[in-house]
Amino acid sequence: MKKNNTKFDCSKFVPHECKCWCCGPVPVKKEVYEANKHLRFRPVLKELDIDGHIFPDTGSTYCTFLSDDYHCLIYDSRPDICQQFGFLDSPLMQCPYMDKHGKTRSKSNRKQLEKSFQDALNHEINPEKSEDENGFSNFKS
Ligand code: SF4
Ligand code: SF4
Repeated sequence: MKKNNTKFDCSKFVPHECKCWCCGPVPVKKEVYEANKHLRFRPVLKELDIDGHIFPDTGSTYCTFLSDDYHCLIYDSRPDICQQFGFLDSPLMQCPYMDKHGKTRSKSNRKQLEKSFQDALNHEINPEKSEDENGFSNFKS
């Protein structure tokens, strides 16, 4: 997802370093989804109707509204979770390439964040299991 403000502009990393790994399928408010259906770029296998939102299942790790050149096609009305990405403290919500002030992360800082991300993801998937039993990488390169 390319951000357009000067503080948090990730376009210098996309697509040569990051292929928008943060843009997996997300629930979209029903009215926003219906108004933008014509902009869906990636095929939707199923539309799950959940509590006033549509979850467009693409059967892949990418959102239907992500273009082939890694732009959000509904950028101005993208969901809150997309707007908050990069700004929340949870390791699941931080960009590995830059911090919330738009500062490029060092390699070591990025490695640390990737580790925290995987630990937090593993915990979400199966809180009972150890990191080793769960462990896998979600980062797309
Ligand atoms: S992970 Fe970071 S660099 Fe990559 S698309 Fe998301 S915000 Fe941009
Ligand atoms: S709505 Fe836009 S910003 Fe959010 S995941 Fe989809 S492509 Fe990315």
